[in-house]
Amino acid sequence: MKAAVYFGPRDVRAVEIEAPQIRAEHEILVKVRATSICGSDLHIYRGTLDGIMARGRSQLGHELSGEVVEVGKAVGNFKPGDRVTMAYSASCGECYMCRVGQTAHCTTTNKAVYGFGTAFGDLNGTQAEYMVIPYADAHAMKVDESLSDEATLLLSCNLPSALIANRLADIQPGETVAVVGLGPTGILTLELALKRGPGRVFAFDPVDARRSFVQKRYGVEAFDPSDRPQIERVKEATRGLGVDKVMEIVGTPESLSLSLELVRPGGTVAAIGVFTSDTFNLNLADVFLRDITLHMNGFANVQPFMWEAQRLLARGVLDPAPLFTHRFSLDQVGEAYETFAEKKNGALKVLIRP
Ligand SMILES: [Zn+2]
Ligand SMILES: [Zn+2]
Repeated sequence: MKAAVYFGPRDVRAVEIEAPQIRAEHEILVKVRATSICGSDLHIYRGTLDGIMARGRSQLGHELSGEVVEVGKAVGNFKPGDRVTMAYSASCGECYMCRVGQTAHCTTTNKAVYGFGTAFGDLNGTQAEYMVIPYADAHAMKVDESLSDEATLLLSCNLPSALIANRLADIQPGETVAVVGLGPTGILTLELALKRGPGRVFAFDPVDARRSFVQKRYGVEAFDPSDRPQIERVKEATRGLGVDKVMEIVGTPESLSLSLELVRPGGTVAAIGVFTSDTFNLNLADVFLRDITLHMNGFANVQPFMWEAQRLLARGVLDPAPLFTHRFSLDQVGEAYETFAEKKNGALKVLIRP
């Protein structure tokens, strides 16, 4: 079968590999109907995580819309033919961390993430024709036939993460809110925040097309983070204090310092961006002295939020279609990564069909 494999920085190719098979009784074999690229996959693509990727072997992808082909003996929730997706992180459902809902920190799988190299479980990826899901009962989920592939793909990572950001920020009606980062997860985070009755919302992203997307679609003021006068204007608009709640969905030292600069004393920063730098430019004294609540949540525990995410999509509260700007075949996976990484032609979410 064909699968996307990492060959080095900016070199992802669809190559022929051995088809996966069920090897343990808690596993299911899934045929991939559609997959997509997450912002966190770009760390791999750009080579930031080269050290944990086996060149020519490590697979990629953790967003799935699939169909169950075969189930292991111990699997109770699935049968062949079921529509299925799974959480980006593989969790067992039995260990202490799973039981308390911190599923991304499962001690059985040791923080395994699909398509994320040798340090995170060395699992297969969704950017393939077929894949195996271990501990399927614990973190895979049946998907309603009425859901589009686009909607289903958001259930693995982006939408539960956006729900978590909103949960952590706990926006109250009338509060001022800043969203830093307008990739697909950032836009979903923003859309959910708008449903909570915020007083005023400011969005930040360096990409023109993304700023105009949210300005047009939601009427939200969107700024370039490198534009200092604009940041001063946000401060003026908040009586010089800063905004009540900031949600950070980028994962760079710059986005974190911008978030801390934007938040008012006593406010909250919910950072769910995936940080890959070795060091943080974090001034903890400032966090302490200004009494800031800081949530760092790089390994979002998405499994407990997948059902809620499906409900939002099934009831039409969110429309996933406008996010998916580009479509590729699995053979074109290299082009798909390049398009998403370079944000070519206003690329937001790219869908890949095996
Ligand atoms: Zn992801
Ligand atoms: Zn576990």
